[in-house]
Amino acid sequence: MITILFGPPGSGKGTQAQVISKRFGLPHVSTGQMLRDEVGAGSEVGREAEPIMKSGGLISDDLMVRIIEHRLGQPDAQHGVLLDGFPRTVPQAHELDEMLERTGREIGVVLFFDVPEEELKKRIERRSEIDHRADDTPEAYVQRRREYEEKSAPVIGYYEDRGTRIEYVNGNAPIDTVTESILTIFGGQLPARGVA
Ligand code: ADP
Repeated sequence: MITILFGPPGSGKGTQAQVISKRFGLPHVSTGQMLRDEVGAGSEVGREAEPIMKSGGLISDDLMVRIIEHRLGQPDAQHGVLLDGFPRTVPQAHELDEMLERTGREIGVVLFFDVPEEELKKRIERRSEIDHRADDTPEAYVQRRREYEEKSAPVIGYYEDRGTRIEYVNGNAPIDTVTESILTIFGGQLPARGVA
């Protein structure tokens, strides 16, 4: 069973994915973190991704799809994963569906994190003081936001058209409250649609 955490930069997907991942023993697959690890390791992928991430742009769909296909093929991903940061474009969403169909898997639910833009800005500012992430600068944030609106927001329409289950999560609340609302959506357990 695949759970997708979807929302704008700073909406808290990563934070919630960590909590839910522990609770359900499911791998947290964060494409942003995977890319940051590649950058840290100085790999070929990392060298390609670094300047794009730093400017707040998106990595090519081709590369992202290859990365995810490889990750979802790992043994620990066979009973489901929490996908955080992917898909981020409609072509990525489409490729993911095809990939899952080939392997007899399905998306159980898309959790859409709803947070007002003012709050997002504040969170990114605060995070930039703590984490020193290269893309938390004001300039990169503007670009990430633009990419989100142009390329990522349409992903929700894609899932609506496909009839995929989408649940709206009020992300403008304390961390524990957001976790509670996700657990309520799950009814204490992960939605049982799909094989794995
Ligand atoms: P955010 O906190 O902005 O949601 P992430 O940690 O998920 O950030 O991702 C950081 C950066 O990694 C993105 O701004 C983008 O450059 C790159 N990235 C992550 N996932 C994808 C993806 N699915 N497609 C393209 N680029 C991606």
